[in-house]
Amino acid sequence: MVVQNPYVVMKDGTIKQVNPFTGTEVWFIPGRGNKPDPNARPKTAQKIETHVPEDYCSFCEASYWDTTPEKSRLLRYQDGRYEHIDHLPAAEMNKSKPIFRRISNLFEIVSTDYWKKNYEYFLSDKNLAWKNRYLADSSGREHVLHVMKTKMRLSRMTEKQIEETPPDTIFNMSDSFFGGAHELIISGPHFKAGSQYDTDLLASGDMTPEEHFHFFKFTICAAQDITENNRYVRYISIFQNWLAPAGASFNHLHKQLVALDEWGFSVQREVELVRENSNVYNEFATNFASYHNLVFAENDHAIAFISVGHRSPTLAIYSKSRNCRPEEHTDEELRGFSNLVHACHAAMGSNIPCNEEWYYLPQDAVERIPWHILIKWRTHTPAGFEGGTKIYTNTLAPTEMRDIMVPQLYKLRAEGRVIVKNIATECPAKANALKYYEK
Ligand SMILES: [Zn+2]
Repeated sequence: MVVQNPYVVMKDGTIKQVNPFTGTEVWFIPGRGNKPDPNARPKTAQKIETHVPEDYCSFCEASYWDTTPEKSRLLRYQDGRYEHIDHLPAAEMNKSKPIFRRISNLFEIVSTDYWKKNYEYFLSDKNLAWKNRYLADSSGREHVLHVMKTKMRLSRMTEKQIEETPPDTIFNMSDSFFGGAHELIISGPHFKAGSQYDTDLLASGDMTPEEHFHFFKFTICAAQDITENNRYVRYISIFQNWLAPAGASFNHLHKQLVALDEWGFSVQREVELVRENSNVYNEFATNFASYHNLVFAENDHAIAFISVGHRSPTLAIYSKSRNCRPEEHTDEELRGFSNLVHACHAAMGSNIPCNEEWYYLPQDAVERIPWHILIKWRTHTPAGFEGGTKIYTNTLAPTEMRDIMVPQLYKLRAEGRVIVKNIATECPAKANALKYYEK
């Protein structure tokens, strides 16, 4: 695919953009829509009463009993130490305060039955042993029955049907809790400390850079565990929908991991592009952003810029590492990458709905593509002619988006809330900054 003039600024200020990776055509039309303000409190904000333990949604501390058995939790101690605990018994779920929990999604997008019926998948020895251990304990049995019955109710089974289902049948149906491949990584707190309004939700940018690094590492461990226990998985889609306009069912911070038996259209297309031109990510992502002054943050391991040609205003963060897969990154590289993603979230604030999407090299690909994350702001208003033309409109110019991010980053860095080595004109933004193509 050859894209001619992917970025054309017209005399009236209209910016015509074509995404070099997807071919999506987007016009920025001046004067349409309000510009998002990271510091503004939404007009709909309502005062809240503080509850201890938090009980504002089904992911809150008071609802642990209603969520599926916990695959892992991450604890942080007073001395700053972190501990990763797998397979906590049901009776212990409220005995410690995790900063993140990993559980199976109650309603999987790609279900355990999908893997069983299409691949003859069955629980790995490790997951089966966990299931047996969990059910051997009376609290565990009670917990699984409780959550499974909730699921049956939500699946519109009648109370009579549920009552007539023998416990052993229910336990057989609970394989998805122990060996399913649609998982959630959920933040411990719902609100930030000292919240007064219902919009003071704890977002990615409200963590410390250290917590955010552990959030990433914990998520990567989950992805590895899914892959190790289901050999039919070819790719795991990892994403974070933040706030209802971005598709979140709860306003409680969480990431999702959905395992797939294919790479998905986007990654497939990216792998094909890199087969044609191994330097495509430098040419069309970072070099292009650098030549158009769209790079706004950088450190030794990652680079962040405004990505053009998306239906929503989009931030891109690329790892510079020659290690392509997330789990192949050293801790230092992961920290560098996580620091920039965290800084992006902190700079945009917690009130802009967004999707954080991960893109990385699939397990069974031999090409090289760099790990990158797109953060798409769900703030746009369609112009009305998208359907007939496939030309999308965007209400925020790439340069305007950059100019929202940059002053916030300077401010937050001065306050010590983010770790960013270079901001805006401080960025080296050198040609071919990404080293993914070096084997
Ligand atoms: Zn909650």
